[in-house]
Amino acid sequence: MRRPEVVGTVADLLERLDAARAAGASVGFVPTMGYLHQGHASLIDAAVAADDLTVVSIFVNPLQFVPGEDLADYPRDLDADLARCGEHGADLVFHPTAAEVYPEGTDEPVAVGAIGGSLEGASRPTHFDGVATVVARLFRIVGRCRAYFGEKDFQQLAVVHRMVADLELPVEVMGCPIVRESDGLALSSRNIYLEPDERRQAPVLYRALLSGVAAVEGGGVDPVAVVGAMEAVLADAPDLAVDYAALVESDTFAVPERIATGSEVRLLVAGRLGRARLIDNVGATAP
Ligand code: AMP
Repeated sequence: MRRPEVVGTVADLLERLDAARAAGASVGFVPTMGYLHQGHASLIDAAVAADDLTVVSIFVNPLQFVPGEDLADYPRDLDADLARCGEHGADLVFHPTAAEVYPEGTDEPVAVGAIGGSLEGASRPTHFDGVATVVARLFRIVGRCRAYFGEKDFQQLAVVHRMVADLELPVEVMGCPIVRESDGLALSSRNIYLEPDERRQAPVLYRALLSGVAAVEGGGVDPVAVVGAMEAVLADAPDLAVDYAALVESDTFAVPERIATGSEVRLLVAGRLGRARLIDNVGATAP
């Protein structure tokens, strides 16, 4: 199995990127926090399929953790990550220190607008500013590329789309489908925190989303009723502390008063099961 080359500095990364681009290569970029699973691998697969040089970044970004969250405990396994990157054909892994990513410090974060204010933004107040700051910095370093993100973090994807448009960055943002376990649980690095009984309860998030989809596709027009259907399913899991269940318009994240015929909506849920904070979402089209 081929191992990707690992670079830790911006200078080394730029040297490789400049050489590849000089030879006419297109660049695919997959930003991650490591502890890679099949969900991350699907992003690498998409990049390898579409681009000539695939770069994976592995950086646990302190800025996107809210005080009291799991920054110190966030799971890490660089060896396994490099093996997985190699199996999926990534060419280069960028594994920088925080000083390399933030040479000027972190006291001037990129601020995110309304799209990041609700849901995850309400539960984790500085989270999206931290995401936007690191993604903007990484995009500036990597330069022109296609960048692959999972729909798993659907609001993050919307924030990144908006930021790229606002800053006119030369990046094409590619949203990729959520990879799930066979029982519906969305893959996440944080699933490692689940105790066996919590793991058994965890697919309730996906079941709740499916009940919301059924309500929308069955012609339900009242968002409150759709959210109520999801909450009723979430209540089946005794240990789940629900953060939110929500229905929003897919592109704006606005909550519609009424679900319009033919409109695209997104159903999202989040909650805490023991030490794990879980999020998930699905799309639905009103008939
Ligand atoms: P993270 O390492 O959690 O920051 O995630 C890095 C990227 O992988 C983000 O774009 C995530 O949305 C994506 N991702 C995480 N889990 C999944 C999944 N289950 N399916 C697809 N993409 C995922």
